[in-house]
Amino acid sequence: MPAPALILHGGAGARRSRDYSREIVHMRSVVEAMRARLMDGVSALDVAVETTVLLEDSGLYVAGRGASPNLAGDYELDASLMDGATGRAGAVAAFQGYRNPIRAARAVMDQTPHVLLAGAGAARFAGEQGLEPIDDPGRWFTRAGQGEDNHPPGQGPALAHGTVGCCVLDRQGRLAAATSTGGVFGKMPGRVGDTPIPGAGVWATDRVAVSCTGQGEYFIRTAAAAQIHWRVEAGASIMEAGAAVIAGIGELGGDGGLIALDAAGHRADPFNSQGMKRAWLTPDGEIGVEVFGR
Ligand code: ASP
Repeated sequence: MPAPALILHGGAGARRSRDYSREIVHMRSVVEAMRARLMDGVSALDVAVETTVLLEDSGLYVAGRGASPNLAGDYELDASLMDGATGRAGAVAAFQGYRNPIRAARAVMDQTPHVLLAGAGAARFAGEQGLEPIDDPGRWFTRAGQGEDNHPPGQGPALAHGTVGCCVLDRQGRLAAATSTGGVFGKMPGRVGDTPIPGAGVWATDRVAVSCTGQGEYFIRTAAAAQIHWRVEAGASIMEAGAAVIAGIGELGGDGGLIALDAAGHRADPFNSQGMKRAWLTPDGEIGVEVFGR
């Protein structure tokens, strides 16, 4: 039986000026909890959703509870997941009013003939599915990224950002990936980034699982997540593929990072921003956590 592996991220918007001790403790605890689930034989797809729910609910990252409002003051969230074993995918975009966008994405995948539901239709569907509503957005959201992008308005880096995601390999050798975000700070109402778009912000096949984080416009323009599969299929290692994709985004002027796993549990976690919060479980059962180090 193959050994399971996992890598998660809490966004590539990390700033050296900020202390990430709480996120480091939290990311380790999530990987520990998910190591136990994987050893119990839980599927990569289920573990990808469970991991993302823990990251969304923590309020520590710019996703789920940690999201910030758009320019109109509304919280519009994006999320997606993909099952490498079956090629199925589910996503929601510009999603409002419900606690866990990743659960809505899973329901889109399981309960509809579609891949992506957006806006009011996505919210209506979430209600029909009995997902948990947010009663008071003003109290629920923590705006975790505000300290991350600590530049005065208009003087920060363009498209400052944050996100969560994970890539999982289970004991049956199946891969899955998930990504969830509040999007870039100060985004226009209706703006959708790479996160809910399979091939851009998420991708999983029988060879690779990928979750991206960064200035989503650049990840869409390069089909960043899908590129990892094609490069690995053409003979690149997962690390070579990851480095090439992030280099291409840098050449266009974009910033961010990605996490990826291959079917043997090898991982890649390249980024060209200051840091990327991330933690992983190796096939040997070792856990690691990093923010600024490579
Ligand atoms: N990629 C996300 C977006 O563009 C943001 C992020 O990953 O930090 O919405």
